[in-house]
Amino acid sequence: MTTKKCAACHRSALNDSEYCLNHKQAFDSVTNHYRVWIDACGDISWQNFLHKLSTMQETGSWVKEAIALELEK
Ligand SMILES: [Zn+2]
Repeated sequence: MTTKKCAACHRSALNDSEYCLNHKQAFDSVTNHYRVWIDACGDISWQNFLHKLSTMQETGSWVKEAIALELEK
């Protein structure tokens, strides 16, 4: 059995994720935030949303790292 590495850092990834626990939690919070945003503010594309978040000062570094990876996809 090989241990996967997190796509965003050197920690081990979770079995069911490409991310470690920290980055997975960060990314899950982004996904939840996206749904809330759409309900509250209307339609925005996933890519635009990620861009917006990555430029906000209050976005944490775990989240920004996960976002940077998603935007490369
Ligand atoms: Zn990680």
